[in-house]
Amino acid sequence: MKDVIDLRSDTVTRPSEAMRRAMASAEVGDDVFGDDPTVNRLETVAAEMLGKEAALFVPSGTMANLIGVLVNTRPGDEILLGDECHIFNYEVGSAARIAGVQTHALRNAADGSMAVEDVLAAVRPPNIHHPRTSLLCLENTHNRCGGAVLAIEQMDALTAAAHGAGLRVHLDGARVFNAQAAIGVPAARIARDCDTVSFCFSKGLGCPVGSVVCGSSDTVAEARRHRKMLGGGMRQVGILAAAGLYALEHNAGRLGEDHANAKRLAAGLRQFEAFVPNEPQTNIVVVDVVRGTVDGWLAALREAGVLAVAFGPRRLRMVTHLDVTTSDVDEALARIARTAAVAGA
Ligand SMILES: *Cc1c(COP(=O)(O)O)cnc(C)c1O
Repeated sequence: MKDVIDLRSDTVTRPSEAMRRAMASAEVGDDVFGDDPTVNRLETVAAEMLGKEAALFVPSGTMANLIGVLVNTRPGDEILLGDECHIFNYEVGSAARIAGVQTHALRNAADGSMAVEDVLAAVRPPNIHHPRTSLLCLENTHNRCGGAVLAIEQMDALTAAAHGAGLRVHLDGARVFNAQAAIGVPAARIARDCDTVSFCFSKGLGCPVGSVVCGSSDTVAEARRHRKMLGGGMRQVGILAAAGLYALEHNAGRLGEDHANAKRLAAGLRQFEAFVPNEPQTNIVVVDVVRGTVDGWLAALREAGVLAVAFGPRRLRMVTHLDVTTSDVDEALARIARTAAVAGA
């Protein structure tokens, strides 16, 4: 039995023995010169899976999103994005500071979507006083909205509205393979009408590091310049790309197990009066804390051997992943039950 069941994030997964073997035996070159064969293969496979012409391997999802903003805008532009999205909340203001764009946040509905009317109303007409509105950013699955999957109809309506208004669209698809697993729609279809799309290897896919940004060949050529500028040009990085290739082959297809475990975890948590969990569609359980404090619960759970994170003043988050089995979920619930009994909750 594990001493600690770590539900803080799907980023805590550790590379398996088989993944480490793939990394250790990777053929490598110098990727800044474009001759690392394993990186090139990963970029080809990733582009194909996302239905785009090209892809670029980058160190993090944050850099992938920043590059998505950089390639789709000019400094001084305005971008539209959801007020709960990762780019707006968790990327250190990089769109403003580095891409030099102004962010206009629109209300995210609980399902992670935005209203088409809100998008259209926010697009500024040409006027010498206005910034140019040039980009809409979407997120699927939606992290702060509890791993919600945007319905394909919503993707289509939002991308059509944006394109109709002359905007480009970037999809933060950090967990787009979770969306694929949840609704049974290929990632390439989900991202079909997005000009750029990023996804992470370092989350549910179980890699130690890495993300990609995909788009047209011209866009990705420009993205490559931005990656170099940001200090993201890496050398014998086929060692990391090998982990990504391994993950696409072996781990992308098993994400449904994490979703089933998240549903089981949420159902268990619902039995406690202190907790009101969401109905998880994917691997993220957000829990409203209605008795006691978030900090109090986090400390008590840590003491009992269960790790979670704060997700707002009255909310905590638990994420299922490759390194959490169904019996780990049951054990976590048993530990939470003992803690709750002590707390009288
Ligand atoms: C994790 C995440 C990212 C990128 O995070 P990094 O830690 O920089 O790789 C981007 N968007 C969403 C929705 C995420 O959950």
